[in-house]
Amino acid sequence: MPEGTKPDLPTAAHVIADRIDREGPIPLGDYMAIANAHYYASKDPLGEEGDFVTAPEISQMFGEIVGIWLADLWLRKGSPGRCHYVELGPGRGTLAHDALRSMARFGCHPTIHFVETSPVLKARQAQLHPDAVWHEDIAGLPDDAPLLIVANEFFDALPVEQFVATADGWRRQMVTRDRGKFIAVPSIDPTEDRIGGTTSGFPEGTILERSPVSVEWAGNLANRLAKQGGTLLTIDYGYTRPGTGSTLQAIKDHMPISPFDCPGTSDLTAHVDFHTLANIARNRLLAVSGPAQQGQWLKSLGIDQRAVALAAASPKQADTIRAAHQRLTDPEEMGCLFQVMAATAIDWPEPEGFSYGEE
Ligand code: SAH
Repeated sequence: MPEGTKPDLPTAAHVIADRIDREGPIPLGDYMAIANAHYYASKDPLGEEGDFVTAPEISQMFGEIVGIWLADLWLRKGSPGRCHYVELGPGRGTLAHDALRSMARFGCHPTIHFVETSPVLKARQAQLHPDAVWHEDIAGLPDDAPLLIVANEFFDALPVEQFVATADGWRRQMVTRDRGKFIAVPSIDPTEDRIGGTTSGFPEGTILERSPVSVEWAGNLANRLAKQGGTLLTIDYGYTRPGTGSTLQAIKDHMPISPFDCPGTSDLTAHVDFHTLANIARNRLLAVSGPAQQGQWLKSLGIDQRAVALAAASPKQADTIRAAHQRLTDPEEMGCLFQVMAATAIDWPEPEGFSYGEE
């Protein structure tokens, strides 16, 4: 890179460029981890004025339904006196706010624990939830009572690795620099990871995507649920069967851009591998429900009726409420793209909302 160009680069790009200059190409997962750590630490990316809008920011109905779903499970478990609401990557705290309000109406008042690394978003969350306890990871979560865990658009932000089929076998996808730009290149050496043996049967150029970080989170969470009881509700866009191809994508100002153009200032995500997450939960003897499509799940839990009631209570808002309902449930919008999956302790009741979406 020519002298003098680095100081003008955004911070994450600068850090990544420095590391590549020192060490050579870095694994794609490291690139994504550095980019996202900078991204979430530097700003609140949510909302119309940010880069993307999430379901709880579209309407209070989303968090309310999540809350009713949790309260129903808790009631049918016999209303355990002590339990903890845990949210992974709670964004602005909106989902927790709406969910906990719904839960309180059923007498469910859990303590509040947020797993969040971004100081900017922690400050936002504290405005709505001054009594919450914050954690950088799940190791410090309480271990004395059941956990009601919610993860909406969390797993998609965790880093993925990719493996490329070449004439010489599988190679790890790396990121390097070419004339000042970041680009992906397969590693020169064979990968040490066991990702399914030979490339035979896979055309050259086939990409396999894996998220070892998600696997670790899911395993640790599942161990907790198996020991303590409770459930993990995961809502995200993703795939339910094993597949091939890159799902890495970047969004900036609500527009898709190349994942390699603006690390640290664009939202870098990958589709969530629900198939693997479900297998991890089953291996820990949790009961897996779904994945179901978000639209069907919300409808079977009463979002249509809730939209009608809200519109009747605030006629001036009726159009906005109808539009939000459509955005959350319509198959052309978030309804089919987003999947909902629950992993629940085996001695807990079967969760509602999945009768249409069983695998
Ligand atoms: N769940 C929220 C926000 C989704 S954005 C909503 O639906 O609106 C992703 C969230 O995950 C942000 O809060 C981000 O700061 C957090 N996050 C991303 N990577 C993380 C990590 N490794 N550890 C903890 N939180 C993380």
